[in-house]
Amino acid sequence: MKVKVDELVCEANAVCVGLAPEVFDVDEEDQLHILLPEVPQEMADRVRHAVRSCPKAALSLEE
Ligand code: SF4
Repeated sequence: MKVKVDELVCEANAVCVGLAPEVFDVDEEDQLHILLPEVPQEMADRVRHAVRSCPKAALSLEE
């Protein structure tokens, strides 16, 4: 499973970081980084939850 962000839509509010900090990070310049674009199987459920929880719907999955 892969996770991607639409950087034009993301507002760097870090909801996803709170739900899956191993996968998402927001830097000091309010830029979201995807640390693990290829999501490990054991994190898949949490990443799916983070994708659904993004208030801007900026995240998408490729199964
Ligand atoms: S939850 Fe959505 S808007 Fe917020 S930092 Fe993550 S991708 Fe960006």
